[in-house]
Order: sequence, then structure tokens, then C-alpha cells
Amino acid sequence: MRYNKIRKMDISDGPGVRVSIFMQGCTFNCKECFNPETHDFSGGKEFTDGTIDKVLKLCENENVKGLSILGGEPLHPNNIEGTTKLAKAFKEKLPNKNLWIWSGFTFDKDLKDKEVMKYTDVLVDGRYVDELRNPTLKWKGSENQRVIDVKKSLKSNEIVLLDD
Ligand code: SF4
Repeated sequence: MRYNKIRKMDISDGPGVRVSIFMQGCTFNCKECFNPETHDFSGGKEFTDGTIDKVLKLCENENVKGLSILGGEPLHPNNIEGTTKLAKAFKEKLPNKNLWIWSGFTFDKDLKDKEVMKYTDVLVDGRYVDELRNPTLKWKGSENQRVIDVKKSLKSNEIVLLDD
């Protein structure tokens, strides 16, 4: 598994100052994708235990409110194991900070039973659809995407959108 980049202080991908990591590889090929350099699974850098340690160390900074995992597609079958390992390690080490994940897969159809959801606070789900683009939306690019409160959704067994 590989990743594209880490941002140490990201203020645009989720609330507050965050650490973000962009995983490498995506097969969805959404029209006008914002991040085409992340599509090739052989691009970027190797994702190792050292990468996890580096991300967690950055997240320890008291100004950092949480971790954002984007891509590429962090939950593609090639990437989900590494993303889950990072998510689990993050929540074990920093249980009071929040984890946001962006994925082209959908919560109810593809993701709700995956282990990684146990560690996820917010999931922005669904592929980017350029025809439904709306630049005024918060945390997402197109109308079809959803900002889901994962904890509440798993508890109530229905989709609960983030109350924001
Ligand atoms: S899922 Fe995300 S990274 Fe993949 S093509 Fe669509 S917008 Fe781009």
C-alpha cells in the first residue's frame, strides 16, 4: 500500500486544525476529480508502520483537533487494511481527537460492517459527481455526497447526518 502526501496542519479537510493523509490509488475515475495524481496505485510513497508513527506523532500536537484520511481511495480493497491499522492506532492513542474519512464508497452499501467504521467519527461518502457540483457545500464537493455521523448511524442502524 502507498500514500500520496501528509499535511501537518490542514485547515480545509474537516473542522479545526488537522493532520491529513492522502492514500494512493483509486479506480473510481470521477469526472473532474480534484486529486488525479492519487489514482495510480504505484505512485506516491510506501505506507509503513513508520508512516503510522509519523502521523500519530503529528496528531499529538495540542493544536491538532483530529486526523483526516482522504485519497485516492483510502477504503479500496488494496488500501483498507492499512487505513484500518492507522485508524485503530489513532483512536487507541488519542481517543479524544476525532477521525474523519472521505471515501467514494457508500456507508450503507459498502462500509457499515467494516472494522474501520468502529474507529471513524465522520465519513464523507460517495463518489464526486461533477454534474452535482456545489462549491458552497461544507466538507464535500457534490450534492450526492453525505457527511455522516458514523457513531450515531451505527447505533441507530440508519444514516444520521452530522449535525453541524
Ligand atoms: S473517488 Fe475521489 S480520488 Fe477517486 S476519482 Fe473520485 S474524486 Fe477522485
